[in-house]
Amino acid sequence: MSVFRRDPAEVIAELESLRAADAPTHGGRVLSYVYDSGEHAIDELAGEAARLVQPVNGLDPTTFTSVAAMESAVVGFARRVFHGEPDAAGSSGSGSTAGAAFGSADDDSDADIVVGSVTSGGTESCVLAVKTARDDWRAARAGTPRMPRLVAPVTVHAAFHKAAELLGLALDLVPVDPATGAPTVDDLEARLGDDVALVVVSAPSYPFATLDPVAEVAAVCAARRIALHVDACIGGFALAFWPDDLPAWDFAVPGVTSLSADLHKYGYAPKGVSVLLTRGRDRQRRQYFATTAWPGYPVVNPTLAGSRPAGPLAASWAIVRALGEPGFVELTGRAARATAAVRALVDGIEGLRVVGDPTGPLLAVATDDGVAPDRRIDPHHWADAARTAGWHLQLQPGLVQRDGTRLPHTTHLTITPVTESVLPELSAALAAAADAVRGAPPIDGGELLAGLAAQLPGGADALAAAASGLDSEAAATLLAAFGLLGGAGATGALPDRLAPVLALVEALPGPLTERLLVELLARVVEPRPAASARPAASD
Ligand SMILES: *Cc1c(COP(=O)(O)O)cnc(C)c1O
Repeated sequence: MSVFRRDPAEVIAELESLRAADAPTHGGRVLSYVYDSGEHAIDELAGEAARLVQPVNGLDPTTFTSVAAMESAVVGFARRVFHGEPDAAGSSGSGSTAGAAFGSADDDSDADIVVGSVTSGGTESCVLAVKTARDDWRAARAGTPRMPRLVAPVTVHAAFHKAAELLGLALDLVPVDPATGAPTVDDLEARLGDDVALVVVSAPSYPFATLDPVAEVAAVCAARRIALHVDACIGGFALAFWPDDLPAWDFAVPGVTSLSADLHKYGYAPKGVSVLLTRGRDRQRRQYFATTAWPGYPVVNPTLAGSRPAGPLAASWAIVRALGEPGFVELTGRAARATAAVRALVDGIEGLRVVGDPTGPLLAVATDDGVAPDRRIDPHHWADAARTAGWHLQLQPGLVQRDGTRLPHTTHLTITPVTESVLPELSAALAAAADAVRGAPPIDGGELLAGLAAQLPGGADALAAAASGLDSEAAATLLAAFGLLGGAGATGALPDRLAPVLALVEALPGPLTERLLVELLARVVEPRPAASARPAASD
C-alpha cells in the first residue's frame, strides 16, 4: 500500500505553480540574488551531483568519506585561485619561493599554511571568521574582561553586524567617502588598538563594489598583529578570473588572515555553499566546536550546523571539476564585458552616475547632482520604472554615517554571465526607464511619513509611541497602515513601487524599521488559518 495520500506528480505540479509566481531565476531579468551562468548544462550537472549525495550527512566525513574528498578538493581549488598555495603564492612576479611570498622561511609552518572549510553560505563564512578572530584575540589576552572590537568600513556586509551581535563584539564602522564609497587607510588605521580582534575589508563591497585597499590595510594590521579578513563573498570567484589587472587583494597579500568567497554566487552553485579560508592551522582550529561532555556521540563541528547537507557541496564540487579555471575565465569574461557595457550605458544616461570606481561584476547607480534638477534621475524611481518593464534592480537606502555625512540612496545591479546575452534588451529597458522618470524628484520620506502618521488611528503620537517598542499586533497594524500588510496578516506580493517603501526605511528610526521588517517577514511564513490549510492536510 502506498504511503502517499496524494499523487506525488500532483504535489510537484503544485510546486511548479508556486514556482511560476517567483521572480525569474534565469534569463538575466533579476539583477541581484541569483547568479545565472547562462549555461543550462551547469545547472543540470549541479542538480545531478546534489541528487547523488542527497541522503549523505556531512556531519561526519569519516563515515561519509565522499564529503571529505569533495570538501578537500573545493578548498584546494579556492586556495589555489586565491593565491594561498605555498608554491603559487605571491603576485610579486619574482618567482620567489613560498617562504619569501609569505614572509616566512618555512612554507609549511602552521602559521602560514592556508586551510579552510566549506560552509552553508556567505553569512556563515563571515560569522565563523569573526568567531575565529575573537577566540584568537581572547586566547592571547587571558582574563581580559573587555569587549573586543571589529573595525570595518561602513560598507562592510551586514553579515558582520550579525556576527558582532551574535558573538559579542563591538562593531566600529568607519565612514567612507560619500562620493566614491571608498574608505581611506588612514581612517581605518586610526581605529586600531589592542582591543581590535578583527579588521574586515571587502573585495569588493556589496553596496558600491569598492575594492577596499587590502594591501595597505594588511600592512598596518600586520604591524600590530591584528587579524584581517577579506570578505570576497560576492566577488571572490569573479575577481580571481577578472580580465583586468587588479591590485592584490587575496592571500597574495601577507597579513590577510582569512578570506570568504561564496560558491553560490560566482561559483554558480545552488544556494548553500561558500568557502572560508584561514591562514594558519592553529588559527583555523579556533573556528571549530568540539565536545565530549554529553552522553551522545563526540561532537566536532567546523561550522555552525550539526548535520550538514552534502548537496550544495557536491554541486559546487562538480561545477569546479567540470569548469576548471578555464571555464571560470570564460564565464567571468562574459560577466566582465556585460558589466563594462552596463557601466558605459549608465555613464551615458543624463541624470544618473555610477558610484565611485566599481571593481568586479556589480555596480551602484546614484543621481548625478551635476546636472540641473529637472534633468536628474532618482535611482529608485528608475528601478521602479525598470521593474514595470520586467527588470528587477535592487534599491539601496541612503545612510547617514557617524561623521554626519550622507551616503546617497542608490540602485544596485549584479551582473552575471547571462547578462551579456540580454544586453540589447536590458540597455533599452534601462534607457527607457531613465527617460520615463527624468526630472521626477525623489520621494521625501519625512513628508510621506507625516502623511501616513496623520492617517494612523492614534495619529503621529502612535508613531512616536511605536518608536519605543512594538508588539506583534501593533507592528502588523502599522504595516497595514503603510499598505504593506493586508487583513488578517495576509501579505500579497510586493507593492508595485518600491521607492516609497525605501523612502520610509530612510525616514523611520532604524530600530522601528527593523522591527517592522521582522514582523513582515514573520507574517509571510505564518501558517494561514485552518480554512485554507485543510485541503492540503486532508485529501
Ligand atoms: C552575499 C554576501 C555576504 C553574505 O552572504 P550570504 O551568502 O547571503 O549569506 C557577505 N558579504 C558580501 C560582500 C556579500 O555580497
